[in-house]
Amino acid sequence: MSNKSKLRVGVIGGGQLARMMIVPAINLGLDIKVLAETEDSSAALAATMVGDYTKFDVVQEFAKTVDVITFDHEHVPLEILQKLEAKGVNVQPPSKALAFAQNKLHMRRQLSALNLPMPEWAAVTDAEELDQFIADHGGVAILKTPIGGYDGKGVRVVRSADEASDWLTPEALAGFGGELLVEEKVEFVREVAQLSARNPSGEFKAWPLVQTTQSNGVCAEVLAPAPGTTPALLELSVAIAAHVAEGLGVTGVLAVEMFQTTDARLLINELAMRPHNSGHFSIEGSVTSQFEQHLRAVLDLPLGETEMTAPYAIMVNLLGVDSKNTFVGQYRKAMALHPTVKIHTYGKSARSGRKMGHVTAVGQIESAIASEVWQTVGILLNG
Ligand code: ADP
Repeated sequence: MSNKSKLRVGVIGGGQLARMMIVPAINLGLDIKVLAETEDSSAALAATMVGDYTKFDVVQEFAKTVDVITFDHEHVPLEILQKLEAKGVNVQPPSKALAFAQNKLHMRRQLSALNLPMPEWAAVTDAEELDQFIADHGGVAILKTPIGGYDGKGVRVVRSADEASDWLTPEALAGFGGELLVEEKVEFVREVAQLSARNPSGEFKAWPLVQTTQSNGVCAEVLAPAPGTTPALLELSVAIAAHVAEGLGVTGVLAVEMFQTTDARLLINELAMRPHNSGHFSIEGSVTSQFEQHLRAVLDLPLGETEMTAPYAIMVNLLGVDSKNTFVGQYRKAMALHPTVKIHTYGKSARSGRKMGHVTAVGQIESAIASEVWQTVGILLNG
């Protein structure tokens, strides 16, 4: 670490996750710098450089100004991070861990090696293999592109390889690294996420398991803690997260998205090695927010406590409805009617389906805070 009086963190990517790291960075007295894609990025407040993170020289120049590099997204090419690490740059999470968040097939292979619970899966390279998997799994499967998918893009329900012919052309396959990931279609009771953090010294802390609801593949609502959860399930989900974090060498915040099955098993769907939408509730709902924890973890500082500040927290995303509504037009009315609700907007230009902000309430009575949150969202939607 440098001998400067302030610890300096560099975040690659100027989205809302980098933006939400700014407040705890200020509180902790850190110097936070952001390598943003554009001048008007969501994290513009801390953007000290605007540049292309796929260019080694740009990232190296940025890295020279900080003590540790971390991320707002997982798209920085691995080769760039490996080169930086070889030159002694402190990258957290390290490239060897991030590799598993960048490629769903690498992730599945590594989790299989660690014996972690997952949907049945296979790598397929042609229509015949895909049709065979579908036939072996009840006539339906979930097909995924191993790289480049997010928010449900790159995920398809298929009943025959014909439905994926565009992904199976030699050109398309080459773009995905030569293989597609196919999984059994899990009949889940609900989707849950286990958020945790680990620092390079190996300290590990987990938040309570949360329940997530997706709409069109995008996270819409998060309930913390996940309702109706038994102590056994909570223990299981923390054990899974700890095993993943250690087994993959993850540092910083780790989100493990899982399916809960009818027989109370948890199957790992996805991993994110950064603060995650399922953890936004922690800004108000936890003693330590995921954004503060991520900064502590990547700097190898001791981790903060993760108990909730109230029995319940609910977070609802403000998803763009058109090219006009930035969800601030009705601020006055929403704030006046719902003073206990916390409204967050990300300073992004409006676009249908885009994550524009979120709203959180914490409290003693779940139904009461749910009603407050949804009424607030209703008002903001009219802005
Ligand atoms: P992304 O990387 O785009 O978030 P995911 O792999 O998380 O994609 O899949 C998006 C959504 O598709 C999941 O939240 C879930 O609702 C559904 N899904 C993904 N995999 C499966 C599966 N094996 N069985 C059933 N549903 C699935």
